[in-house]
Amino acid sequence: ADEDLETVPLSFPSISMSSRERRWSDTTPYSSKKKLQSWFQLPNGNWELGKIISTSGNESIISLSDGKVLKVKEESLVPANPDILDGVDDLMQLSYLNEPSVLYNLQYRYNQNMIYTKAGPVLVAINPFKKVPLYGNDYIEAYKRKAIESPHVYAITDTAIREMIRDEVNQSIIISGESGAGKTETAKIAMQYLAALGGGSGIEYEILKTNPILEAFGNAKTLRNDNSSRFGKLIEIHFSETGKISGANIQTCRVVQCNEGERSYHIFYQLCAGAPPSLRGKLNLQNAEDYKYLRQSNCYSIAGINDAEEFRTVMEALDVVHIGKEDQENVFAMLAAVLWLGNISFTVIDNENHVQAVEDEGLLHVAKLIGCDIEDLKLTLSTRKMKVGNDNIVQKLTLSQAIDARDALAKSIYACLFDWLVEQINKSLAVGKRRTGRSISILDIYGFESFNRNSFEQFCINYANERLQQHFNRHLFKLEQEEYIQDGIDWAKVEFEDNQDCLNLFEKRPLGLLSLLDEESTFPNGTDLTFANKLKQHLNSNSCFKGERDQAFTVHHYAGQVTYDTTGFLEKNRDLLHLDSIQLLSSCTCPLPQIFACHMLTQSDKPVVGPLHKSGGADSQKLSVATKFKGQLFLLMQRLESTTPHFIRCIKPNNLQSPESYEQGLVLQQLRCCGVLEVVRISRSGFPTRMSHQKFARRYGFLLLDNVASQDPLSVSVAILHQFNILPDMYQVGYTKLFFRTGQIGVLEDTRNRTL
Ligand code: ADP
Ligand code: MG
Repeated sequence: ADEDLETVPLSFPSISMSSRERRWSDTTPYSSKKKLQSWFQLPNGNWELGKIISTSGNESIISLSDGKVLKVKEESLVPANPDILDGVDDLMQLSYLNEPSVLYNLQYRYNQNMIYTKAGPVLVAINPFKKVPLYGNDYIEAYKRKAIESPHVYAITDTAIREMIRDEVNQSIIISGESGAGKTETAKIAMQYLAALGGGSGIEYEILKTNPILEAFGNAKTLRNDNSSRFGKLIEIHFSETGKISGANIQTCRVVQCNEGERSYHIFYQLCAGAPPSLRGKLNLQNAEDYKYLRQSNCYSIAGINDAEEFRTVMEALDVVHIGKEDQENVFAMLAAVLWLGNISFTVIDNENHVQAVEDEGLLHVAKLIGCDIEDLKLTLSTRKMKVGNDNIVQKLTLSQAIDARDALAKSIYACLFDWLVEQINKSLAVGKRRTGRSISILDIYGFESFNRNSFEQFCINYANERLQQHFNRHLFKLEQEEYIQDGIDWAKVEFEDNQDCLNLFEKRPLGLLSLLDEESTFPNGTDLTFANKLKQHLNSNSCFKGERDQAFTVHHYAGQVTYDTTGFLEKNRDLLHLDSIQLLSSCTCPLPQIFACHMLTQSDKPVVGPLHKSGGADSQKLSVATKFKGQLFLLMQRLESTTPHFIRCIKPNNLQSPESYEQGLVLQQLRCCGVLEVVRISRSGFPTRMSHQKFARRYGFLLLDNVASQDPLSVSVAILHQFNILPDMYQVGYTKLFFRTGQIGVLEDTRNRTL
């Protein structure tokens, strides 16, 4: 009925945005006198709904659902929403916006398989860990016809397509969340929808087939997720002018290596289990159990997964994206080489612990598979050429140095293989030269991480998320502000938590976290401890930084504080691959190693900032891992910058990958981390309620107690605002409309309803 009222008025006063520390619930001024139900926090941290029986002074008597009756302080109660708001499909609609209400609302929906909920502009998706009847052609058709309104990945993807066509602007769908929260599945669901609507040319089939390939080579079973992506992915899907998919491009961003105690990349197990006999013979393949790299974790299979079958799926997919049989065989040879490298062992040859590679089947197979001379391989694995002054010297390696060199070579071959595959896929999916259409990009990237112990990987991941958050903030406020500017209101009053300070902490040169890390990594005598001390020395005055005991430091991220342990930072940041190894690869007779070597050399040609390693020669010319990561991240952000973003935040309801379990504490922590709480708060703390001067005067004018000198709508409106004591911070007067903070109109509506 209220056609001029642009958003549903909320009866709850707006929340101060001033303090970072504050969460919604503890800023909620609330009088239980008028309310019947309230949230009460149990000692285990969970929230329970209580009925207020009576209130005296600042104490209330409440009864819980199990019949228990408690006397509690009024401050410990958090207002609950009326039953009529149970399971609303947008959290913005909640009258009382607090943590227990949000948790309850999401759980209420989750229990009915409604795993999607809007949080203002963001789609929240809770992983069901089971098949839910929400997908497939009937649903796609229904969302396309707009026959269903309920929040869904399909709906947000549909919006992206429509806005791409309507505004002629590229779009992006940005999916974030913890490991195992459902990002990759969500990305696939979005791709499905795009393929269904924009399909026809056949290229959509190829695009969908990139998923099994990239998952085989980029995913691994971890403790948290049987199919955990160890890379971030941006897939840009191009559309022709007629709205048909015309091609795609994939960009990846890798930081995480497989950890010990977890299965390695799926493809290794698939190859061992599924290679046909002729290939087995050529590659001298053994069972997964026979390879040291795969033996580390003592986990060879995944429940419900048949690796041999998966291997056939991957081979078929490789065919689909036009990777020729010969190239495929080269790929498998490189995989086998990596596996055999792990089996190479060393013997000590002198009393200084110097070693030599043992001439066993491992060494023989590697040399054969990569196509190099066996003596060259032996030499590369046990010595290092160095330049000291003008002299070239050869240094023998100790056992641990040799093992590092071997593992670095294996990792590099694998990393290059992955990049090469992506490159080939991109060639196959390439859009023709005439790129006149628009695109929709889907970003599937690891979310903010905070563990008991946080290392270099979390440092990079959280830095990336800090960038994404800034992108998110900017976008959210830009949308708001455009309308304010149009109506001439002071948009500066919409405050939000800018995270520029934290980004500066990372990126500033020369005194930022990344620069200092790179600098210390190039010092011959740099250690994790000297790095930590340097941070404390230079950054302690920064409000986002705090030095900690024992070579640790804390960063104040938008999602909360994270303490990083610098142990291993320098080693992980240095690219350990030696020039000797690169030279070895370039001398190989097989095509792939040569391509890899060439790729690595061009990388190392780029200059680095900061002082150079004195004796390290060309080694120190290589880019550090963090700098490479930052470069990839910037490329990604650049692509996103020119798009209209749509955000999906995935949530994991339990750590057991189990359906039917919703752990409040775990969900809450993720809601906080990925900023969902903030989003709704931000969306509501702008001026979301808008009404024209005329409508406002007409609707509430009769409530005026005193006569107003002038009867023009604006004067009447202002008089009403004064009479109801609406504080100046709570509204803005625009050229045509009044803008209100959330909840400000509630009191007017209540009075109006009572009076009518
Ligand atoms: P992430 O990429 O965030 O680490 P995944 O997308 O790999 O997480 O999801 C982990 C697992 O959760 C999947 O393998 C699947 O079993 C389950 N899952 C995720 N999303 C859904 C969904 N929409 N429906 C059913 N199962 C899902
Ligand atoms: Mg994933």
